[in-house]
Formats: sequence, C-alpha cells, structure tokens
Amino acid sequence: MLRAAFISLSESKSLRFAAERTWAGQRISRRFVAGTTVEEALAATRAVNQLGLSVSVDNLGENVTNADEARHSAQLYHQMLDRMNEQGLNANVSLKLTHMGLDVDEAMAFQISSNVVEHAARINNFVRVDMEGSAYTQKTLDFVRRLHQKPGLAGHVGAVIQAYLFRSEKDIEQLAAEGIRVRLCKGAYKEPPEIAFAAKTDVDANYVKLMKMLLKSGTYHGIATHDERMINATIAYAQKEKIAASAFEFQMLYGVRRDLQLKLVKKGWRCRVYIPFGTEWYPYLMRRLAERPANAVFILKNLFR
Ligand SMILES: Cc1cc2nc3c(=O)[nH]c(=O)nc-3n(C[C@H](O)[C@H](O)[C@H](O)COP(=O)(O)OP(=O)(O)OC[C@H]3O[C@@H](n4cnc5c(N)ncnc54)[C@H](O)[C@@H]3O)c2cc1C
Repeated sequence: MLRAAFISLSESKSLRFAAERTWAGQRISRRFVAGTTVEEALAATRAVNQLGLSVSVDNLGENVTNADEARHSAQLYHQMLDRMNEQGLNANVSLKLTHMGLDVDEAMAFQISSNVVEHAARINNFVRVDMEGSAYTQKTLDFVRRLHQKPGLAGHVGAVIQAYLFRSEKDIEQLAAEGIRVRLCKGAYKEPPEIAFAAKTDVDANYVKLMKMLLKSGTYHGIATHDERMINATIAYAQKEKIAASAFEFQMLYGVRRDLQLKLVKKGWRCRVYIPFGTEWYPYLMRRLAERPANAVFILKNLFR
C-alpha cells in the first residue's frame, strides 16, 4: 500500500512544484541526489570513482512539455560528457526520453537523443536510456535500436529492461541477438496486473531468469539491484558458468547500500553508481521512497541535523 501511495505521490504536479522549491524539500533530496549543478555531480562522481566504483550520471527530469526544456536538458548532457572527458572520470550518462521531449515531438526527441549519443561515441563514452512507465516501453526500445543501428553508434547506447514486465523475456532475447547492452532492474513504476507481475517473489524469480540470459549472451550488461539475493544469485551463476568479473557490472543507486557497493568492489566485482543531479528531483525521490518507505523516517530524522 505504501509503495502505491508513494508512486501516486510521485505523479502529483502540485506537490512536485511545492517540494522542489522549498528549503526542506531540497535538504531532503540530498540523501539520494548529488546536488543541483553539473559541478556538484562531477564532484560526487570523482568521490565515487576514488572508491573504485564507476558512475552513470543522470540529469534529473522527465515528461518535459516543450522543445526548449528538452534542448536545455540535452545541453547539460553535452556539458557533462565534455567535463567527464576532460577530467578523465570513469563515468557515462543515463537519460530519459521524456526528458528529451518524447511527449512533445518524437522526431525532435530522436534528433536530440541522437546528438547526445553521437557526442558520447566521439569521446568513446556511452549513453544508457533509462526505462520509464509501460506507456513508453516499446517507443524507448525502438529508439535505442534505431540509435544502435546508426553508423558508429553501436556499443555507445544501451537499454533498460524491467523484470516486473511479462514482455521482458522476449525483449531480452531480441536485444541480446542485436548485441545491445542492457541494464536489468526490477522496475520502479506502478503497472497493471495484465502486463506485470504483482508479487515480489514472481518479480524476483523473473529477475534471476533474465539475469542468466544476459550473462550468457556475451555482451557487457548491467545488473542493477540492491537485493543481496539477486546479487548472490548473479555471483553464483557467473562462477558456475565461468563468466569473468570483467564481463558485466553491478549497478546501484547513489545513497543506497553504500556498504554493499564497496563490499562488491573489494571482492573484485565491478559496480557502477547511478548519480542523479538537478533541480527536478521530486518524482525520482518519491520512487525511492516507494521502494523502501522506511527511507521516509530516516530522511525526516536527519532533516534538522
Ligand atoms: C542503477 C539503477 C538504475 C535503475 N534504472 C531504472 C530504470 O531505468 N527504470 C526503472 O523502472 N527502474 C530503475 N531502477 C530502479 C529499480 O527498478 C528498482 O525500483 C530499485 O532498484 C529497487 O529494487 P531492488 O532491485 O533494489 O530490490 P528491492 O527488492 O526493491 O530491494 C531489495 C533491498 O534493497 C534495499 N533497497 C532497495 N531500494 C532501496 C532504496 N530506495 N533505499 C534504500 N534501500 C533500498 C533494501 O534493503 C531492500 O530490502 C534502477 C535501479 C538501479 C539500481
């Protein structure tokens, strides 16, 4: 129930407007968001790199309603890619297509995203296209495929697959056949029972099944989870199948299970931290609270420290 409540809150435009503009809201977001500027995100990236972890930086924002906002979001990605390159950071970027204007004009969103991926390819970097709610699944996968097929872009763009969706096994089969890099996650949105597993045990079982398909595919994929059972299953499978630690990476969110991130790296596994930054943090934070409502108590306790 709490999960559903926080996901509904994540969609509230008025709460979002209010929260993102208050001092308390900004303070609260700091637990999971690395700041509001490119400089703050780069500083967090450097700090995480120094611990032996790689990074994917996300300029927060989604569902923009006009072309100027979309172009501005993309501009920050171009800036970020250049700064990462200049500073020799071990980091790539993650973006959402609705932040690039998918709801405004698909052709424009494709052009804007394509420019970002071309920029990443020029400096031998990578763009992960985050997966949003199911209304966008097919369009997002189509975009990633089209980008991957453009000359010079293969290997510089990747998709995200959510284990809670029934369709994901088929999607992974296709993406794996095309050699497209995948981030596997459980899924953070509220989806109807007609298209998604409702029970956590079913999502977890599907996650393990899809993880095995990915590890076996021979392409470099990301196993994104904080769930120790999923992580242990991945390690056990990699060891059993003699899949090298350098053949895939674990991924976790900034501010979540830092102990586990370090433990994995100390044991020789790769781990990438997803670092979000920006002023539009409200929906992202609400989805993090939905995953673990106890975070709300933790955050409130720390608010006035
Ligand atoms: C790098 C990365 C990228 C992601 N990208 C996407 C995406 O593009 N699209 C999408 O739909 N979802 C994305 N997600 C979110 C994902 O779908 C899950 O909602 C989220 O990771 C929680 O699932 P879990 O695998 O950690 O397992 P869960 O079963 O939710 O949690 C397992 C355990 O992990 C810990 N934990 C999990 N979440 C939190 C939290 N927020 N705070 C504190 N502890 C926590 C708790 O100890 C919990 O018991 C991403 C997640 C990661 C790590």
